[in-house]
Amino acid sequence: MVQERRTDPWSALLDEGLKDGRLVCEAHEGPGRAKLVDPIPELHPDVLAALHRLGVEQLYSHQAQAVRSAWQGPTIITTGTASGKSMCFNLPTLDVLCRDARARALYLYPTKALAQDQARALARFGLTKRVRPAIYDGDTPREARAEIRRNANVVLTNPDMLHVGILPNHAAWADLFANLAVVVVDEAHVYRGVFGSHVANVLRRLRRIAAAYGTEPRFLLTSATIANPVELAERLTGLEQVGVIEEDGSPAPGRRIAVWNPPLTDAELGLRRSTLAEAAELLARLTREGARTICFMKSRKGVELLSRLVKRDLEGTHPELAELVAPYRAGYTPQQRRELEGRLTRGELRAVITTDALELGIDVGELDAAVVVTFPGTVASLRQMWGRAGRSSIPRRERGLALYVAGEDALDQFFARHPEEFLERPVEAAILDHESPLIFRAHLRCAAHEGPLSGDDGEFLGPRWEAQAEVLVSAGELRRRPAGGDRRDEKNRESPAGGELSAGTYVPRQHGGYPAADVSLRSASPDSFAIVDVSSGELLGSTESSRAHSTVHEGAIYLHLGQSYSVSELDLDRRRALVAPFDGDWYTQPKRETDTSIVSLLDRREALGVTLSFGEVSVTDTVLAYQRRRVSDHASLDLVALDLPPTSFATQALWFELDAGALSETIPLEVLLGALHATEHAQIAVLPLIAMCDRWDIGGLSTNFHPQTGAATIFLYDGHPGGIGIARTAFTRFEELCNDAHALIAECPCSGGCPSCVQSPKCGNLNEPLSKAGARLLLEGMLAAVAAPAVGAPL
Ligand SMILES: [Zn+2]
Ligand SMILES: [Zn+2]
Repeated sequence: MVQERRTDPWSALLDEGLKDGRLVCEAHEGPGRAKLVDPIPELHPDVLAALHRLGVEQLYSHQAQAVRSAWQGPTIITTGTASGKSMCFNLPTLDVLCRDARARALYLYPTKALAQDQARALARFGLTKRVRPAIYDGDTPREARAEIRRNANVVLTNPDMLHVGILPNHAAWADLFANLAVVVVDEAHVYRGVFGSHVANVLRRLRRIAAAYGTEPRFLLTSATIANPVELAERLTGLEQVGVIEEDGSPAPGRRIAVWNPPLTDAELGLRRSTLAEAAELLARLTREGARTICFMKSRKGVELLSRLVKRDLEGTHPELAELVAPYRAGYTPQQRRELEGRLTRGELRAVITTDALELGIDVGELDAAVVVTFPGTVASLRQMWGRAGRSSIPRRERGLALYVAGEDALDQFFARHPEEFLERPVEAAILDHESPLIFRAHLRCAAHEGPLSGDDGEFLGPRWEAQAEVLVSAGELRRRPAGGDRRDEKNRESPAGGELSAGTYVPRQHGGYPAADVSLRSASPDSFAIVDVSSGELLGSTESSRAHSTVHEGAIYLHLGQSYSVSELDLDRRRALVAPFDGDWYTQPKRETDTSIVSLLDRREALGVTLSFGEVSVTDTVLAYQRRRVSDHASLDLVALDLPPTSFATQALWFELDAGALSETIPLEVLLGALHATEHAQIAVLPLIAMCDRWDIGGLSTNFHPQTGAATIFLYDGHPGGIGIARTAFTRFEELCNDAHALIAECPCSGGCPSCVQSPKCGNLNEPLSKAGARLLLEGMLAAVAAPAVGAPL
């Protein structure tokens, strides 16, 4: 064992790191033996023959279990990266298609590239007579579309196309819906938060339309490892009793896991050596030692800087190796991508550096080493990237290296001190809320357009849809059609979802509208701003109006899929932001004034000695100015004033009140506000540990006197209009949240607060005032409140 370890390309490097303290944690995984079983004899003979042709004599145990589970009911598969998950849904699908010439299947992928990979995988089965896959997305030529609708029996598409192109035109897809046997939702963990809340509604609309054509398709889902796969599948589809396959029967590659923290250069200020410089040194070293490495970073800018640093490092000693390091960018044609991936797989390239936005689309199988530079946002995606490491190209070595290089952000440093959170604690739960009011109502409008809403729809839309439909009636979007219908709606009554109802139905107020076109699956509110790249004229995306002022104000630097853009104009009247690609070395942080007012109380409990409330709030935000800050050291360059009107939105929040009088015994009044503010920041920083979200999805407000509570109060709210379940999760798991926030603060070596603990990159007050010591006392007081009774409690 020891000998083998010495001969791995990274052995010496890790030994050094262990000595000087940069390697803060290491662990070993696998190798594990494959659990193999014979192919299931009940599969259709043609499928068995195809497996035989492919050289698949045996299946991994989870693949066989998945097939049997798929025959029983809806199923989600959550085995590891590269464990052959596609086989788990392809086999039952192919089986159905071979048995029933009319049967059809729909495969949903979050990206076009993944749909292309899957179409190729299906083609490899060689069942050309029975299986006719086709990709149907925005790139599909118009002239090919009718043929696909008629003939393809596996339609590969994405949720956006299903939402805007297929469901509203269900009549043109009548044959697909009437014979829809299987719906595959691959990479389901991607569907969380706002996007997930939308997709959950799209899938309910899909079930509803399928039912109107007389079918009830079987849903098969896959997901990366998350804490709540069954809950995710049930929330996404609205189905109950989803089976889960999580025991991985594929051979686990042997893997060494290493958590690496750049050394402190100034403990007082909490400064560390730059993560980029540290990562460049590591990558150059791995390249020299002969490892084939893939490296992930958040931003394209970071990818380019890192590639340059690694090349420069290698040019000094091994100029021939510098050629073997390449960045992998968005915007490559599929052919360029395949070529690069091929060179990497064959070992003609040693290191590829890419943004994590592309992680889902890169097809390189496994390499020797996977290096993740700064925390990618969720442990689930970190693990997925790590999963690339393991299949060593070096003869007779079995170990891969999965390396994480911590950045300076609070979560990065939290993990560097608690690596077990990465390695042992169940990873985050994927959260979504299909009933988030604005999202839900948007899809009710779409559903009503697809067929009148009737009493039967509770089965698909949930028990509370009618109350929301009434809201839409009041808003003039829908109208109630009395029982039996009326003459004006003759046409609608032919719609298969119409039904004959004594209670009447809801139909669009206006004929001829196309509501799906107004609903973006990436935005919580229909009320959004378009973001247009003026250099290409391309529409990059949209942002909720509640966020437009703070994210795409004039002068803002805006990050999209790892690329930076600068905003030249925010046009409030035409609701759009004009942007252009940006190369400078600064970013921007808005300064804003926020008010929250409590609209209604939904739940309340006593926790940690405070009264903890959950409810609806209205958040009013005025963006006053923005600060330009240098990327390399975050130094403030200047403050530029803005003149923007206030915006407000309704959302969900938790809040807790503190007794300032009692606190004043430990926390002087003049630091109270700083203590509350720092506590709020720390709680927001660690909330992604329990809810799978980004700190940018969460807002906060702390005040030493709130007019409605009459006390010092901290609010944490869902940053998206209507809320998507984040605040509710924080309310339910408040004790954990406070524990983690306390650990974050208490363990940070800095003296007065730093970006790794209480400073926030998104603070609207530009991190003023903050009291790290005060927040520590405050949280300690709360945690002691729960510990205290236990001391004297009888056994
Ligand atoms: Zn700190
Ligand atoms: Zn703040």
